[in-house]
Amino acid sequence: MKRVVLLGPPGAGKGTQAKKISEKYDVLHISTGDIFRANVKEGTPLGLKAKEYMDKGELVPDELVCDLVEDRLTWDDCKNGYLLDGFPRTVFQAEHFDRFIEKRGHELDLVLDIEVPNEVILPRMAGRRVCRGCGASYHVVTHPPKVEGVCDLCGGEVYQRADDAEETVLNRLKVYADQTSPLIEYYTKTGKNAVVDGDRPVEEVFETICALLGE
Ligand code: AMP
Repeated sequence: MKRVVLLGPPGAGKGTQAKKISEKYDVLHISTGDIFRANVKEGTPLGLKAKEYMDKGELVPDELVCDLVEDRLTWDDCKNGYLLDGFPRTVFQAEHFDRFIEKRGHELDLVLDIEVPNEVILPRMAGRRVCRGCGASYHVVTHPPKVEGVCDLCGGEVYQRADDAEETVLNRLKVYADQTSPLIEYYTKTGKNAVVDGDRPVEEVFETICALLGE
């Protein structure tokens, strides 16, 4: 496994699966959402710009995202491959990414399209909490941290993302349907797209993904 893209609506479990994949296969997990959130927290110029869009559940403009990802993928730790979570999110980004890997003589191995129906996503997102420190995902009902508000893994603060508020989630789902779901067809044409049913327990979804990735 070298270069893999995780596709799927917000709340499909991309972040949770990405963490598990990156541990098992020892591959770097790159989440554009995490990079933007870190920039927002540090108050960088990129973070300030990105926040305007993130708070509304809109996508950050393509140029900002492509430059950021292109720069990140040239770091030494990406030499042996990476798992992209949250990128590409538009056809423009996918075409940009294709040119980027082609220029380097690399190839994209697999696109995992984790599908979950909207009616399952809303309650999932309403109860979702994440760790400010390590990004671990929790749920108030199905997977609460052992101590309320404290991450089991790193002791960081467990909080609700501003963009997980119901109104914003509804907009993120619309943005996904309009701007990101055309990527499913885009990648299906390349024969690299594998559909994974994400409406199952985390471990079951992970088993399916491992079967697709091989040993
Ligand atoms: P995520 O954590 O992947 O749900 O991303 C959170 C937010 O960051 C999104 O709602 C967007 O505002 C922004 N974002 C993350 N990745 C991208 C991307 N590839 N293109 C545009 N905006 C992005």
